[in-house]
Amino acid sequence: MSVKQIIYAAVPSGEVKDDGSTFKSTTVDLDPKTVNLDGGVLLKVLELSVDPYLRGRMRDESIKSYSPPLAVGKPMTSIGIARVERSEADKFKEGSLVMCYAMSWQEYYVVPAAELGSIIPIKRNDNVELSVYLSARGMPGRTAYTSFYDIGQPKKGESIFVTAASGAVGQLVVQLAKLEGLYVIATAGSDEKLEFVKSLGADQTFNYKTADVDAELKKYGKPIDIMYDNVGGALLDAFLVNAANFARIIACGAISGYNGNHTPLKNAWQFVPRRLMMRGFIQGDYGPEWTERFQRDMGAHLDAGRIKTKEWVVDGLESGPRAFVDMMAGKNFGKSVIRVAKL
Ligand code: NAP
Repeated sequence: MSVKQIIYAAVPSGEVKDDGSTFKSTTVDLDPKTVNLDGGVLLKVLELSVDPYLRGRMRDESIKSYSPPLAVGKPMTSIGIARVERSEADKFKEGSLVMCYAMSWQEYYVVPAAELGSIIPIKRNDNVELSVYLSARGMPGRTAYTSFYDIGQPKKGESIFVTAASGAVGQLVVQLAKLEGLYVIATAGSDEKLEFVKSLGADQTFNYKTADVDAELKKYGKPIDIMYDNVGGALLDAFLVNAANFARIIACGAISGYNGNHTPLKNAWQFVPRRLMMRGFIQGDYGPEWTERFQRDMGAHLDAGRIKTKEWVVDGLESGPRAFVDMMAGKNFGKSVIRVAKL
């Protein structure tokens, strides 16, 4: 049988393009019924997450960072969910669902016994779409929840500025902030996205592509207490001159510079007079206590409908490269997910 796969072909320079230079679509011969499992399992890949941090993994292998570089010539990987089709491992029953932080972009593949530690069984609530385990109930949810509470230290009546507010992380921060009684100023890159963010409860919104960011932040009329920074660059710089004394900046990401074009901050000196605190984090830094707290609280909010989640699902493994390129360009509307196969 011919099984589709997407190969990570070469380290890109600057903006990633869907022209075959970074990703190559190909096939491998693999018969799911007879392939040797080597004491492990055969996975049928169902859904794959498309995330900005993958751009950081597309780097020369000599450059160190918190996540390993992608291996050139091998299948692309990202967080994903698969069904166990066949199993020689007691822990993984046929038909069960698993998650992996480095799932191969390949319709079927074998995880041998020696690598079973990389897959985690997941329990699915029948009422919940699979993609939600890659968004609000998964990594982006954990990202938003842990950092908002730990670094943001939100207090009722305070204000927060959220960037990339319609995206996977941003949409959840907006809603958590409203639940905590904060005034939310949110920005995104299209009017349609702003309507969505307003529907989540944001009090003040603007399109950073067309608006004067400084003027928009000043419309609030008071200095702002917290920034949830997904973007970096000019939006962060504008916040620094609109920040309250002792404001907290949750440095989640800096997507505006991920293609190697980071914008220097002109207003960094504001850290001193305004006594600002900015802290970066990687969601994986947060240990089991935070995992438990996140799963309990976010699960309860989602179950009760207090938090909504919007995914942007594209069908077919072959759509993966385009989904990544589109997400980096802001063409996603919600958490970007590739549906490789239906459950
Ligand atoms: P996302 O928001 O769903 O998608 C990325 C969005 O970024 C795009 O839709 C686009 O939305 C916006 N964007 C792209 N280029 C931009 C630019 N030059 N200026 C302003 N906005 C731009 O992605 P996500 O998964 O939620 O990730 C958001 C941020 O969180 C990223 O920086 C990511 O690296 C970071 N992150 C960090 C952690 C961690 O552990 N620290 C974990 C997960 C994610 P617009 O249409 O609004 O422009």
